[in-house]
Amino acid sequence: MDKQSVLKEYFGYDRFRPGQEELIDAILAGRDVMAVMPTGAGKSLCYQIPAILLSGLTVVISPLISLMKDQVSALREAGVASAYLNSSLSAAEYGEVLWGLARGTYRILYIAPERLLRDDLLAQIGDVPIPLLVVDEAHCVSQWGHDFRPSYRQIGRFIQGLPARPCVAACTATATAKVKEDILSLLGLQNPLSPVTSFDRQNLYFGIEKPKRKIDALLGFIEKHPQQSGIVYCSTRKAVEEVRERLGRHGYAVTRYHAGLDDRERRENQDDFIYDRKTIMIATNAFGMGINKSNVSFVIHYNMPKNIESYYQEVGRAGRDGEPAECILFYSGQDVWTNKYLINNSTDEEAERNEEMVKHNLELLDQMIFYATGTDCLRSRLLAYFGEQSPNYCGNCSNCKTVYESVDITLEAQKIISCVYRLKERGRSFGKIMIIDILRGSKTNKVTSQGFDTLSTYGIMAGTSAHRIRNIMDALISQGYLMVMPGEYPLVDLTPRFREITVEQKPLSMMLPVDRVGSSEAPPRERGGSFAVTKTFEKPKSAGILPDKDPVDEVLLTRLKDLRREFAQAGKVPAYIVFSDASLRDMCRKQPTTKAAFLGVSGVGEVKMEKYGDAFTRLIGEYRDTGEGQLDRTTVIQ
Ligand code: ADP
Ligand code: ZN
Repeated sequence: MDKQSVLKEYFGYDRFRPGQEELIDAILAGRDVMAVMPTGAGKSLCYQIPAILLSGLTVVISPLISLMKDQVSALREAGVASAYLNSSLSAAEYGEVLWGLARGTYRILYIAPERLLRDDLLAQIGDVPIPLLVVDEAHCVSQWGHDFRPSYRQIGRFIQGLPARPCVAACTATATAKVKEDILSLLGLQNPLSPVTSFDRQNLYFGIEKPKRKIDALLGFIEKHPQQSGIVYCSTRKAVEEVRERLGRHGYAVTRYHAGLDDRERRENQDDFIYDRKTIMIATNAFGMGINKSNVSFVIHYNMPKNIESYYQEVGRAGRDGEPAECILFYSGQDVWTNKYLINNSTDEEAERNEEMVKHNLELLDQMIFYATGTDCLRSRLLAYFGEQSPNYCGNCSNCKTVYESVDITLEAQKIISCVYRLKERGRSFGKIMIIDILRGSKTNKVTSQGFDTLSTYGIMAGTSAHRIRNIMDALISQGYLMVMPGEYPLVDLTPRFREITVEQKPLSMMLPVDRVGSSEAPPRERGGSFAVTKTFEKPKSAGILPDKDPVDEVLLTRLKDLRREFAQAGKVPAYIVFSDASLRDMCRKQPTTKAAFLGVSGVGEVKMEKYGDAFTRLIGEYRDTGEGQLDRTTVIQ
């Protein structure tokens, strides 16, 4: 058998994806590899196909129990004998796996790193050769990555202790130079092949939104995406609870995941999501590693993550099946502040208190802010972060779909900076909200009781929306004319460069989306001439439109999904393990009614054809015959 037939017969795919073939060839030739590919690109097949072809046992070190279970279920469905060893097994199950290992039953064993040196594994495996050792999520070995696991440091020692050094394959979606160096040296990789594959995930739409009220924006989004499965990431447990509560009140099937829940609840909630009992997961970044659910249609970041690395990993969980999916980041200046605070005050990891690490993390945060606040193609920015050049237009991100224009903000900038200056003269500093209130001439007690209504800058921007003042203030901060001082509350202060605006009267402009012109609270003419639109454009279509999924017969698709669910429940596996959504859509397109034709569906290998071919082709046949497909499904599954 060769790699091509394994791809087809076991996994049901016709073509390799970029990078897969080279990696498989290298492993089969006994060369170490470092597979650096984005989440969802298809790293698993790169070692699973060699594992099927090589004689002996392939050992896969994996950091998460859920990941192992999922991978092993998927492999068993495809007809590959495999097992896992981790703390979730009962003593009897554990013994059974060890017994199977000793007899050479399995082709692939997944194992937690903590177990490598502890369980005298090698004695159990006995004479069975280990031609290939895979380190999945290999960035966990590095403290520069985002998921450092001390137990990953034992892997090098484990490899050295093996009677014959296996080929070592390290897989990760983390591509920074520091992490790659650590993987290379700490795992002792020997001249590894590391093909350059693009980090681009073309089926993902990237969007940035700066909603006035995030919760409303989220509700609006979900309303437009009924029945779709998605993840909403929040930065704190509190936010997870609040968002879940609001969505729950609107009747959506939501669940939650964060480190404050006990193990049992976390497991249950995760399963509810994976098994499609709950369609929306609200979670902190504790959720997701090892989640292979392939039909996630959107990932929304309710708060901005700390760095692009984590962001890309988290959004990578969308659209693994190759179907179009949306990744939207809700940005607010407050997120910058929260992240800075978290980085400066991290207590959970020794490493993060280290000064160099704090500096490093703040630099990474700056790149994330740069991504969230810029106006050029988001995809090209993400790819540039991973060292890839790409055209500054992808047509499938919110910046590419939004027309920006340069707007003169000289006068408004002068007013804002003067206000901060006048406050400073009185020995006072405030956060953005107070400054905005003073500029807009608020009559609230907190302004008047302190006499700020007597400032010369009081009310000088009365006709400008708070949203717009905030936007300009953020621009002044990012361009270095104002700064936010660290402390318990974020206070705005002048930088030495402020004189360029107030004294030298430097002209200043800012890119603003054209459709903001019409949507801000005050119409342009009320802005006292400060709002100089230089060009006019047609109002663009609002962002957030995905390339349409290939149209398929939705009635048939629903029937196929129902049938899939029944098999999934009977086999106690998630639905996507039976067939991915992409496979079901392919069935709708090809409408196979014979087993031979069924094999032509993407994702249908020999074992799945034998197991499911009859039921699915029968359903399709009856659907075609009756037009409306009025069949009693109880006759389909015996
Ligand atoms: P990664 O580990 O890189 O995040 P996975 O290995 O989980 O990605 O693969 C993502 C999805 O892509 C899986 O559903 C897998 O079955 C599918 N896949 C992998 N290789 C191919 C291929 N050559 N053709 C079609 N689908 C593929
Ligand atoms: Zn773009």
